[in-house]
Amino acid sequence: MADASAPYRIQGSTGEWEVVIGLEVHAQVVSSAKLFSGASTTFGSEPNTQVSLVDAAMPGMLPVPNAECIRQAVRTGLALDSKINRWSRFDRKNYFYADLPQGYQISQLYHPLVGEGEVVVLLDEKDESTAKKIGIERIHVEQDAGKLMHDQHATMSYVDLNRCGVALMEIVSRPDMRSPAEAGAYLRKLRSILRYVGSCDGNMEEGSMRADVNVSVRRPGEELGTRSETKNVNSVRFVMAAIEHEARRQVELIEAGGQVVQETRLFDPDKGVTRSLRSKEDAHDYRYFPDPDLLPLELDEAFVEDCRASLPELPDAKRKRYEGLGIPPYNASVLTAEVETARWFDALLAKGAEPKAAANWVASELFGALNRLGRDCSTCPISPDQAAELLGLVADGTISGSLAKQVFEIMLETGEGAGAIVEARGLKQTSDSGAIDTVVDEVLAANADKVEQYKAGKQALFGFFVGQVMKAMAGKANPQVVNERLRAKLG
Ligand code: ADP
Ligand code: MG
Repeated sequence: MADASAPYRIQGSTGEWEVVIGLEVHAQVVSSAKLFSGASTTFGSEPNTQVSLVDAAMPGMLPVPNAECIRQAVRTGLALDSKINRWSRFDRKNYFYADLPQGYQISQLYHPLVGEGEVVVLLDEKDESTAKKIGIERIHVEQDAGKLMHDQHATMSYVDLNRCGVALMEIVSRPDMRSPAEAGAYLRKLRSILRYVGSCDGNMEEGSMRADVNVSVRRPGEELGTRSETKNVNSVRFVMAAIEHEARRQVELIEAGGQVVQETRLFDPDKGVTRSLRSKEDAHDYRYFPDPDLLPLELDEAFVEDCRASLPELPDAKRKRYEGLGIPPYNASVLTAEVETARWFDALLAKGAEPKAAANWVASELFGALNRLGRDCSTCPISPDQAAELLGLVADGTISGSLAKQVFEIMLETGEGAGAIVEARGLKQTSDSGAIDTVVDEVLAANADKVEQYKAGKQALFGFFVGQVMKAMAGKANPQVVNERLRAKLG
């Protein structure tokens, strides 16, 4: 297994190279209306059915900021331990694109809504000592563009403006990542936090979260090299593959005597390569200037405090709390990564389940079943109430762990409650040592040869005897009593 603490290096023909990565993540804000208009943001509607006169940039239409979008961006900033700028302003970024009727994008260059912050990632989920802070440079709020569609003969192009004007948060990281794995961990953590906060659904397939991947290479410890930027990469796996390919391309280029140029590239997921799209423009090419149609945004203390108060318990805090309840770090991390899982598990704890046993059961039995069913906790067929009932029967000794597995399967099949299943099918565990003794005697008598081998020192046979007794009693014997009685009889 790779050592998570060993630095990631690319071996070139002239020595080792270090990779430097910074990500700009575009996250679509969860809000029913667009950033500057009242048009709906529902995904997947008929083309051009969610376009207001503002989005279509009709003459004389004026943008009005949607307070909900600003609130979501502030909540996100607070969740990322970032500075909230009480005074910010919108700027026009001028460029022509067919899916942006205004001819400019309203964005924030000079005075973003959110300033510096950080995200803590664990490079190894089982090990707190692999924690690393990735700096956030800023988060600004801006409008998304529409979508162009080209017919297959490339004779006609169509524009769908439904997405035009939808609010995006652009979350810009510092160039703090040093390997594809770190970039992957950062993206997963960011996605997790956004989904806890509820400010972005994190759905990368639908494009509601996408990353521009900035990559450069350098000799370890030297100055930053020139970066390329690979645009709009829409999965964690693709981001990692794009970094790997792009870093290697740059190393080969430099070692062959060439120079990396600042440019915009595209990732081709089918081939796993990046291709040049255009040379990269600088901020001044866009002729940014403050949007004269919009007043600066001034937030008062009460608004920010209200945003803060609305935040849920976030993944790191929840993980620490779970560990404090005796849940092992790996389970705590798996249970808190997805907000739906964490909510489901919290509900189970609220029903009084013992934390460690419950965590174990969820991570093995429940996840196993969900995997088989192709589901997750948001579509879990078993409610936390039902699971608490099952775990309660194990805790009070009514059923053993192995019976619990059977009962759980029946619950999944029939939807019946654990107690009812145990009652109706007589699945109660027996601790009656008289009944168990009888079976133990039978098993030992039937396996006299093995008893001899055991007594001659073949200790491993103990498990075999336990198994035979459990089998003979249809799994209903209390395993502790079986162990006890066997030890007594075998001396
Ligand atoms: P632009 O919009 O022009 O791409 P930004 O300042 O918005 O510029 O974003 C720059 C991004 O590039 C940031 O995520 C930053 O961390 C990253 N970055 C800057 N310099 C480097 C570098 N030398 N190597 C890798 N990433 C870099
Ligand atoms: Mg950029």
